[in-house]
Amino acid sequence: MGWCFYIYVVWSDKQFYRDAVELPWLSIRAIPPSHPKRKELLPSSSFIDAAVTFCTGYEYFTSRRGDRLMAKASDYLIALDDGHGLGTAGKRTPYIPSLGRQIRENEFNEKVTLFLKAELERCGFRTLLTAPTDGDTPLKDRTDLANSMGADALISNHFNAFDGKFDGPGKDPEGHSLHIYFNDVNDRRLAESIAKYLKQGTKQVYRGIIEQNLHMTREFKKAAVLVENGFMDNEKEALLMINEDFQREAAKEQARGVCDFFGVAYVDAGSGGGVVVPPPESADYIGKRVESIYRGAEGLDFYSRPTFNDAYRAGTLKYQYGFPTILRKLRVEGAYMYEVKNSRGHVYYVTAAPKFVRVEGQSSGGSSSQPNPGSSSGAVAIGEIRIMGVANAAIIQDRPDRLTSKDLGTIARGRTIPVTGSVRGKNSSSGYWEVIYKGRRAYITGEYGSYKAY
Ligand SMILES: [Zn+2]
Repeated sequence: MGWCFYIYVVWSDKQFYRDAVELPWLSIRAIPPSHPKRKELLPSSSFIDAAVTFCTGYEYFTSRRGDRLMAKASDYLIALDDGHGLGTAGKRTPYIPSLGRQIRENEFNEKVTLFLKAELERCGFRTLLTAPTDGDTPLKDRTDLANSMGADALISNHFNAFDGKFDGPGKDPEGHSLHIYFNDVNDRRLAESIAKYLKQGTKQVYRGIIEQNLHMTREFKKAAVLVENGFMDNEKEALLMINEDFQREAAKEQARGVCDFFGVAYVDAGSGGGVVVPPPESADYIGKRVESIYRGAEGLDFYSRPTFNDAYRAGTLKYQYGFPTILRKLRVEGAYMYEVKNSRGHVYYVTAAPKFVRVEGQSSGGSSSQPNPGSSSGAVAIGEIRIMGVANAAIIQDRPDRLTSKDLGTIARGRTIPVTGSVRGKNSSSGYWEVIYKGRRAYITGEYGSYKAY
């Protein structure tokens, strides 16, 4: 019988939200302009669309004329790979007289990777460094890590070399290129998205997208691109390696390409409402849990961006529901917001006004609120399920496995219970609802609940 679920795709102004319930085997995203099925499925390019992919590989497409459709950056993990190690033999420029030394390839690779990380995180992506040390991490370790963490794309940064000699102005090869695996459409789409921006800025020869048998692009399962940002044995380009403006520019261009690839809005460093408030002496809210003390039935809004604009509203918190971790405090549109992380690592923004929220360990400035011993250790309810499809009551389990779990209690048919998400778990073809029961996380077999979003 499987189970019945609903997918809510909400269009508002310029945003597209994935349904609050995150079924792990379901993903919703915008169809990028270069999607191979786009033309075939959409009657006109002015139609805006969403693609829903099920674990079975089945894809459901929908479209609506109107707004630009955006995916949520925090749904994606981007693996960032800085080529080689700082001391890797051979990977360096010839001696540069004007500098009095050689430049090691990793000096550039590491810098551009860290700038790219900052760019992508500002846009909302999650990132993963495949080689966070100065050592020369084996290539297999890099791709194994990226694959095992489920990264959605991988970008490896390098600087090219030809014969290891400076031959004088105009005599050395020059330019940048993007390297992908053979016949890999995902690699190619990502490379095309990046190339569009990489060609801008500093004038360099564009050597194109090159199909090649490289470990990083071959072994990484999803879209991967290796960027050669110039030639180390071309003196003019070699000096770009230690030019911070160039490093930042390359990172920004790559970030813009990644945004396009995933259908996410690029957030410029200078834009985006939120200005980070430097932590005062008492920035003791960082790392703490924050919860709503607003008792209104409609709940307290939280947002996918540092703004109070409804277009970016990502959901609501009921009284005493909250987020487990405050990352920082931002000044936004004349007020303050906390940048917070939920239990799944997704980043959101919620008002920091003491009238509406309470930070763990701090006394409330608003309505009287007792610390709630039964509060759900940071789980955010995003809806509720009504118990159905069972004779009398559904069993509430301590883990999503019917066979090995302990029973925590039961909930009668027709009753409702707050739900934080769903998981596949074990030994249930319908998966499990992740619920909050007596202040702790618990599980109910998927087929016994009908979901309603808050
Ligand atoms: Zn290299």
